[in-house]
Amino acid sequence: MPELPEVEVLARHLRPLLRGRTIRRVDVRRAKSLRPTPATEFKRTLTGKTFSGLSRRGKYLVFHLGKTGAGSSPHQLLGHLGMTGRMYVALKTEPLPKHAAVAFDLGDRNFVYEDYRYFGRMSLDLSPLERLGPEPLGKGFSPAFLAVALKRSRQPIKVKLLDQEVAAGVGNIYASEALFRARISPRSAANRLTAAQVKRLWRAIRDTLKDAIRFGSTVPLKFASGKSDGLFYFGRTDDGAGYYSERLRVYDRSGKACLNCKRPVKRITQAARSTFFCPACQK
Ligand SMILES: [Zn+2]
Repeated sequence: MPELPEVEVLARHLRPLLRGRTIRRVDVRRAKSLRPTPATEFKRTLTGKTFSGLSRRGKYLVFHLGKTGAGSSPHQLLGHLGMTGRMYVALKTEPLPKHAAVAFDLGDRNFVYEDYRYFGRMSLDLSPLERLGPEPLGKGFSPAFLAVALKRSRQPIKVKLLDQEVAAGVGNIYASEALFRARISPRSAANRLTAAQVKRLWRAIRDTLKDAIRFGSTVPLKFASGKSDGLFYFGRTDDGAGYYSERLRVYDRSGKACLNCKRPVKRITQAARSTFFCPACQK
């Protein structure tokens, strides 16, 4: 599932492709993917609007739209990739994929939202943003904030890190990665971390996300026609590039040698999700 870095890289990729483009027509192929916005309202609101900007909040893409001409109120469109969602701009000559949920006609191109498992969303409902905590790479995410957020919870720290009110956009992969960098056991109770551990974790979260964004910015994006969709969270790739999995230090490395101490990495299940860690390095 794409997390903050993957969504950030996608936002940077799409921003210049969409900016200034006007939506001529909205083709809704799967109304459920717009919930809770009804398809009629979705089409009526967005047709004729021009993409003016694109930002990211947590794992969400926030598309900004205005009408050409002054005095009209701007709109925002929220996108979430779910497990398997893809959003890309393709020439209109390319046929729409079978699992296209929405296609925006931009003239010579389509902006396509495709999702074969349908856990993603494109909606005019912005309420999911209200429940998000600070951006982990922003100023609001300080060691002091993290300390307070963790103090209230007896959950294992790995599970608590998945709470989007703590660090918006951190998910299962980067929670494991950050704890490995901070040398903290994923099983430690959140409220039992020492001040030094909290500080290390704060830094590890930021460094992990920054490195992943930097990595993702180097991966060639081949949307639409390519087998690789450029969303580099996949551990494998069909076109021979081996760098996809190597960038992760502990995630999905169960049984392999820890990069620090060479002892085997362990996989456990916490809150029905896999956690990867080194029992020797992470106390
Ligand atoms: Zn180790």
